Amino acid sequence: MTAQTALPPVSPGLPRDGGDGPAPASEAPERPAGPSLSPSRAADFKTCPLLFRFRTIDKLPEQPSADQVRGTLVHAVLERLFDLPAAERTPEAAAALVAPSWARLLEEGPALAEIFAATAVRPGRDPAAVAAEAEATGQARLFTAAQDAPASDEAARLAAFLASASSLLDGYFAVEDPRRLEPAERESLVSTLVDDELLIRGYIDRLDVSAGGDLRVVDYKTGGAPREAFEGRALFQLKFYALVLWRTRGVVPKVLRLLYLKDAEICDYSPDAEELERFERTLVALSQAVERAKRDQDFRPKPSRLCGWCNHQRFCPEFGGTPPPFPAAVPADSPSPANGPAPVDDDRLA
Ligand code: SF4
Repeated sequence: MTAQTALPPVSPGLPRDGGDGPAPASEAPERPAGPSLSPSRAADFKTCPLLFRFRTIDKLPEQPSADQVRGTLVHAVLERLFDLPAAERTPEAAAALVAPSWARLLEEGPALAEIFAATAVRPGRDPAAVAAEAEATGQARLFTAAQDAPASDEAARLAAFLASASSLLDGYFAVEDPRRLEPAERESLVSTLVDDELLIRGYIDRLDVSAGGDLRVVDYKTGGAPREAFEGRALFQLKFYALVLWRTRGVVPKVLRLLYLKDAEICDYSPDAEELERFERTLVALSQAVERAKRDQDFRPKPSRLCGWCNHQRFCPEFGGTPPPFPAAVPADSPSPANGPAPVDDDRLA
């Protein structure tokens, strides 16, 4: 993977819904009864089979992180930014979208307000520990301020939260000029069948298509966790999308782009067909391993430094815990409203 700081212009004037570009995502196949994988869940199983079980089978509730709430907002702003005429996509315009986008998110999902409230520092929590945690996870100074504001001072906390989102948008404008871009698709659901039975699917933040038909998959990373801990996961996610696009549109994406907003940095990766073929075989093997683990009810812990971000240490034998009884019926891989939002991404909520 190579780091870049400059972005070449991409097909100005290209029709948003494809034109000569890719087919709309509505051509994706219906979900069959067989196995299915999303990038996040597949990465969970690779990271730790027991974590996969806790999230996908037990559907244990997770406390969304402050970074995820902010990531949801920043993704929403970046999506709406491209609704504006190209010349109007300025930093000021993006900043002006922050508060209305937050209001809209709350309207669409009132539970988000509770989640936001829950990310406040709880009374009795050691402020030094909170600060150390913020430092360790690289959270922006403003967002730390948002968390530390007294719970009674909700207005100040909200203002600091919105300001922290704006500071991430500054990172975006440091590496891209959206006036020179016309994405073909945004927040696009893509899926395909692999091996005639495995459904793989996921949401692409942005898809750019050049005048020559080259595809560039763009994923915004807004989280504050150390990058080296998650970069392999992020690349896995992008290869996943590349495979779906290749299988559904017959084109291997030329560039897979990770856009790190906090660090104002771009990382590009160029896959090739052989690599995606190998990746496809890896996914099939992974799916077979998941099905075996379900059949045998055998999901083993696989400790790593990512345990530090795991919500379920208290149920994990590696940390002295005991997993709950295995559910009688294994639920489908979908969010369970009863258990709160299922995590679908590392740096934002579903
Ligand atoms: S604490 Fe670590 S080993 Fe245990 S379930 Fe979580 S990620 Fe897996």
